[in-house]
Amino acid sequence: MTGQQLPLRFGGGRYDQRPPVTRLFYDPAAVALPLSGLQRVTPNVARRLTAFGLTTVGDLIEHFPRRYEDFRDRKAIRDLKVGEEATIRGEIVRVRAERTARRRVDIVRVLLRDDTGAVEAVWFNQKYLTKVLCEGMKLSLRGTFRPQSGRQQFVVRGHEILEEEDGEGVHTEGVVPVYPASEQVSAKLLRALVHQLVPVMRRLPDPLPAGLLARERLPGRAAAVTAVHLPRTLAEAKLARERLVLEELLLMQVGLLLHKQEQQQRVHASALPEPGDLAHAFLDGLPFELTPHQLASLDELEGDLRRDVPMRRLLQGDVGSGKTVVALYCLVRAAEAGLQGVLLAPTETLAAQHAETAARLVGPLASAELVTSTLTAKERREALARIECGETRLAIGTHALLQEDVRFAALGLLVVDEQHRFGVEQRDALVRRTERDGVAPHVLHMTATPIPRTLALTVFGDLDLTTITGVPSGRQPVVTRLVDEDKRETGYDFVRKQIAKGRQVYVVCPAIDESESISAATAVAEAERLQAGPFRDARVAVAHGQLKSADRDDVMRSFKTGDLDVLVATSLIEVGIDVPNATVMIVEGAERFGLAQLHQLRGRVGRGSEKSYCLLFATAETGASQARLEALLETNDGFELADRDLEIRGEGQVMGSRQAGVPDLKLARLARDRAALLRARKLAAGILADDPGLRSPVNAPLQDAMRAAFGGELGWLLKA
Ligand code: ADP
Ligand code: MG
Repeated sequence: MTGQQLPLRFGGGRYDQRPPVTRLFYDPAAVALPLSGLQRVTPNVARRLTAFGLTTVGDLIEHFPRRYEDFRDRKAIRDLKVGEEATIRGEIVRVRAERTARRRVDIVRVLLRDDTGAVEAVWFNQKYLTKVLCEGMKLSLRGTFRPQSGRQQFVVRGHEILEEEDGEGVHTEGVVPVYPASEQVSAKLLRALVHQLVPVMRRLPDPLPAGLLARERLPGRAAAVTAVHLPRTLAEAKLARERLVLEELLLMQVGLLLHKQEQQQRVHASALPEPGDLAHAFLDGLPFELTPHQLASLDELEGDLRRDVPMRRLLQGDVGSGKTVVALYCLVRAAEAGLQGVLLAPTETLAAQHAETAARLVGPLASAELVTSTLTAKERREALARIECGETRLAIGTHALLQEDVRFAALGLLVVDEQHRFGVEQRDALVRRTERDGVAPHVLHMTATPIPRTLALTVFGDLDLTTITGVPSGRQPVVTRLVDEDKRETGYDFVRKQIAKGRQVYVVCPAIDESESISAATAVAEAERLQAGPFRDARVAVAHGQLKSADRDDVMRSFKTGDLDVLVATSLIEVGIDVPNATVMIVEGAERFGLAQLHQLRGRVGRGSEKSYCLLFATAETGASQARLEALLETNDGFELADRDLEIRGEGQVMGSRQAGVPDLKLARLARDRAALLRARKLAAGILADDPGLRSPVNAPLQDAMRAAFGGELGWLLKA
């Protein structure tokens, strides 16, 4: 576009009596203009729109309808049927207002006439209309024909004044978009404003390359946006929406894959040589056979480690699927290549547990170091010195390992367990800090919260995905029961028998009012109640977030070593804790937990050879909590539960709770638009394969649009 300004007139004086405002627009810069140039947007309205999140023309264009109403059933007045909703058009013959004596309702009555007859239209409590409506005006009305006490009347639900005989009404005729609205910003106002944007919408540039549009038979963006706001039919609206959903997902996938490409081109990683004696000794020394899925994931990881492209992989597997041993193998591989490995855990207990496991399984194969915040200053200094000189091959620890003063001789592999518990920025910072001469460590993320594939492609779209399905054989599925309040004692009877057999029990209390101290107090009170009553003869202790971490570690350790029978904890119970002798998980207030969390809690038991049980005590179930609990009773499969969770909650919450910095999708809904997401992924991969780095001018608009849409959310990705 040259500097030539395009005279485009907004609106047609159809919505108010002010003279039409003429605005001059550059195209495509029109989308950046403030809405205050539109008719009806007084300074007051502009303020309300801004408060609602709509400031520019572009904001409004991207404020898509939530759904549509089909008002295409326009009727001649003569053909109105009793009880049926319809749209009619006609000319005002007479306007009257009255007030009922008893109930003091204002009624406005308008006699409306068309070529076939006349009907009385009524409005309740909208007296101002007597000032607006007058004889001779043309109206379109949406409402229901409902004759009453011998009177023919049409009860109005929506109306609009027509200024041109031809052309369709905006609010009462045709397919009417219903916008997300508020008390301050009505859907009607939004419709009126959107109608003024038609000239801009018709000229919107298309970020998708013309070749792609042709190949994929996609409508252009301008047509799709126009049709989404002003469809003539519902089918047209659906098609338009599909195109915009695909575009949104495609932009996101291009962003994610571009980031991955840039990452992998920017730096190299050390390609590890063939597995040697150490790796073989590790595998031979394992006290169990690896499952086929563990072996398959080892193969995949091995493939990554032997390349000089930095591994960026997410290893996901249900609780108890045995990810740790897979990670340890990779760490041994790094160690035998003369490099260092880091195993990051979100909590002290988990870090300590990993250190024990490493001592047991890796033992003398690599010298390990445990770094947590419980080290004294001196211990820490010495540990860091051993890490810095390269003597330590395997550093296991918490956030304490992410601090700036931790320096490595040669970091080859970073493993992040329960990765969603770490800030993206934090772990990226460690990777960047340990880069040397263009060589970066391999990174393996692990998660025990299975993620539906659609979410994995979204939230972790820049990572490769390896999944361990199933758990090691010999494990029995955990028996899950919902226990009604009147069966509580029977439940405790059962648990006492387990304790008598030497088994251990978790009791988890829900977080209360988001308050740590109240939740802690609740857990303490519950522990006292259980110790004084149902578990009088057992050894009961409590762990919660308000305890000093050393005290909490003591309790956890005693539980692990079997010096406690019952551990009462808040929902903070350490993720990933592994006590095979624990066979009962009691969840109090189960209706207050999310599905993923309940599944995690249940995964704390059933880790040994004994049959295990999960007892859910729930009160006052809402529909959604009922659905969650039922899903839990029906399946032990974390992946299936993850899909159910997505259905029950929608991805907003699932993703929101997973990690900050997740793209905010305007139109696409992952649960519903699964097929579109997979298609977008494929198209994005194709685009980047043909044009690595997205350097071709043909793809410049695509790149710009991607950065405009996701630059903020994916900022942490794109800036690297
Ligand atoms: P998660 O994937 O939840 O982190 P872990 O790695 O903690 O699971 O493994 C859970 C338990 O299963 C541990 O006690 C571990 O030693 C054991 N385990 C792992 N792999 C196997 C296997 N192939 N056969 C038997 N037990 C296994
Ligand atoms: Mg684990």
